[in-house]
Amino acid sequence: MIQLSQRMVALGTDRSEIREAYAFAQMRAAEVGAEKVDDFSIGNPSVPAPATVAEAVHQLVDTVDPIKLHGYTPAQGDAAVRQALAEDLNRRYGTKYPADSLYLTAGAAGALSCVLAALGCPGDEFLTFAPYFPEYKVFVESAGGTLTVVPANIEDFQIDFAAFSAALTPAVKGVLINSPNNPTGVVYSEETIRRLAETLTEKSREYGHPIWLISDEPYREIVYQTQPLPWVPSWYDNTLVCYSYSKSLSLPGQRIGYVLVPPQVQEAELVYAAVCGAGRALGYVCAPSLFQLVAAQCAGQTAELAVYRRNRDLLLDALREMGYTCAQPDGAFYLFPRTPEPDAAAFCQRARKYDLILVSGDSFGCPGHVRISYCVPTEQIQRALPKFQALAKEYGLIK
Ligand code: PLP
Repeated sequence: MIQLSQRMVALGTDRSEIREAYAFAQMRAAEVGAEKVDDFSIGNPSVPAPATVAEAVHQLVDTVDPIKLHGYTPAQGDAAVRQALAEDLNRRYGTKYPADSLYLTAGAAGALSCVLAALGCPGDEFLTFAPYFPEYKVFVESAGGTLTVVPANIEDFQIDFAAFSAALTPAVKGVLINSPNNPTGVVYSEETIRRLAETLTEKSREYGHPIWLISDEPYREIVYQTQPLPWVPSWYDNTLVCYSYSKSLSLPGQRIGYVLVPPQVQEAELVYAAVCGAGRALGYVCAPSLFQLVAAQCAGQTAELAVYRRNRDLLLDALREMGYTCAQPDGAFYLFPRTPEPDAAAFCQRARKYDLILVSGDSFGCPGHVRISYCVPTEQIQRALPKFQALAKEYGLIK
């Protein structure tokens, strides 16, 4: 019998509910035809990358020496690319970040892994808020820490500060937030960020050590509200930002993003060094070199995001009309309505009778809810509405 890490075997074989639902949808599509299956399981952007991405790729392939284009870059990323990305942030947020505050990564997942490995010492506790992106647990535990989940405030999915304060003990090393949120689509208000910053400042002082705020922002540009998204590092100094071009530029397969260690972070140079060290220890070497250059050329642009808003309005209005309860989702491309029975998995099973594929909130640490990933063609939503309606009738939401 070979000796393997049992943890890694478990991680490699336990399929997430999202993947299972997606595989089920594919299987049903093969059996009954794709046009009969309405799959809302996965968060793969449904709009293409903007044309400027393809133009940048062509131009780079045509003009840059292939040895440089496909070669290793410095571990933290090409210096000119980091300069361009820092300037883009400075333009948008009125900041003065130098190129050396950015560390380029393989998407937000790479950024989170590096930050958690950089901060986490064995036994460290990290907090996050339900519902949360399930990979957080994997990344935190891989860094030797433990993840504690603060219960959800299911009224509006802003932070429940009483529950948060109770969980914020001296053992907490960092707090992970994600706004706009997967799976709720909720955007943290300025009031929430202000109170979060106040609480962390007060507790850091009381406990005599910094409590790091890790802001996971792959959906930063996908917002439907008129008020601007609060820029978290402007509210709390010890914030580390994990960003990705997966969603804003529809490039999830190209694996490009960054960690931002703003200069006002306590011992910023040391923290940045630890992030670089984490990337080295995890074997990332450098972020994909071609797409570093593409990101620099396309910084500040987005894919055509209007379809997501159309989808959200169509689905949200219809579901509310049918009697479903759903917190206001002003960003990302997910809805997270309450299920009409407490057992969300049972609701998802019932939905499958109609070949309507959803993911239960249990996967995100929030039972009694279901995630609907609406980054799909609008016609799919139109086609699926009668299925949601039939379910609503089954549960007596509508007569
Ligand atoms: N964080 C959240 C909240 C996500 O939803 C995702 C992907 O869906 C990620 C991080 C990872 O994104 P990336 O593709 O940039 O690694």
